[in-house]
Amino acid sequence: MPLYEIRCEAQHDTEVNIPLAQADDPVACPECGTAARRRISSPRIGRGNDPRARLIESTQATAHQPGVVDAIPASGNRRPTPVSRDPRHAKLPRP
Ligand SMILES: [Zn+2]
Repeated sequence: MPLYEIRCEAQHDTEVNIPLAQADDPVACPECGTAARRRISSPRIGRGNDPRARLIESTQATAHQPGVVDAIPASGNRRPTPVSRDPRHAKLPRP
């Protein structure tokens, strides 16, 4: 079922799922119940599960409204540096 953006006479913008066969029928605004009309909007064509696309979308989503942090990130939760048990690694120079 496609997702449509609608706007009622009171300027409420809402997204509703409407069956494709009923897309041209009038829709009642979920907030005030008055008649709402479909709006022309850009399709949400998925970019798949690409990590770059998710990063871009999350960056755009928080560009004007940063995410709210309710706790200070813990600094002691880092993973310990893995220790190699290979004897050849012991001969390598240390920084
Ligand atoms: Zn409304």
